[in-house]
Amino acid sequence: MGFVSDKELLLDDLAEWLRRYAQIIDENKTYLTELDSAIGDADHGANMARGTAALVATLDQAQSIDALLKKGGMTLVSTVGGTSGPLYGTFLMKMGMATGDVSSLFPDQFGAAFRAGVEGVIARGKTELEDKTMVDALLPSIDAYDAALEGGAGLAEAVAAARAASAAGRDATIPMVARKGRASYLGERSVGHLDPGAASATYLWDALADVTGA
Ligand code: ADP
Ligand code: MG
Repeated sequence: MGFVSDKELLLDDLAEWLRRYAQIIDENKTYLTELDSAIGDADHGANMARGTAALVATLDQAQSIDALLKKGGMTLVSTVGGTSGPLYGTFLMKMGMATGDVSSLFPDQFGAAFRAGVEGVIARGKTELEDKTMVDALLPSIDAYDAALEGGAGLAEAVAAARAASAAGRDATIPMVARKGRASYLGERSVGHLDPGAASATYLWDALADVTGA
């Protein structure tokens, strides 16, 4: 794929990341909708597939990393719909605001931007850990990423650590009682089901793993 270095992510690498994310969403849209039919309104796969297809159409126009992320985020807000559209849109927009006008991101800069995105989701969704949302996959993943870098890991190794942590965080949503979003209307009946947004959030790391060879 477009990846050229274990040292930094270029504009093309980030575009490839989002393109691959859209592909994985599309491959799993039926599964995501099945998850959402158990504790929501059975539209998460369709929402995300529509939004990420629109996102892909914007990627070639961007001349800089921050423009790519901000435009991508705005596109998700306006096309995904549901609760997850504004949240994923905020994620990418906050990432773009955090990177500034740069032509490449070192691993720690990517991590800082990803964390700013997660913090944006938390602020916009008024969410905490263990509310049974995408945050349960996102927050542990970026903690694991940063810990890996601090321990001397390279980019691919840190991405692998983040990916494993996001999958563990996703699976940990199964026994949780939903406290946010539509699933919260079910109360205790949400227990025993995996959160659809936590599942779609793990694909961010699956996609980056493909791009970085993690
Ligand atoms: P809707 O719930 O409007 O149908 P989706 O089905 O596309 O939207 O997305 C549902 C997902 O959104 C949930 O699985 C959950 O992960 C996430 N979500 C819902 N509310 C919040 C929130 N307040 N904070 C973070 N994530 C949330
Ligand atoms: Mg839904």
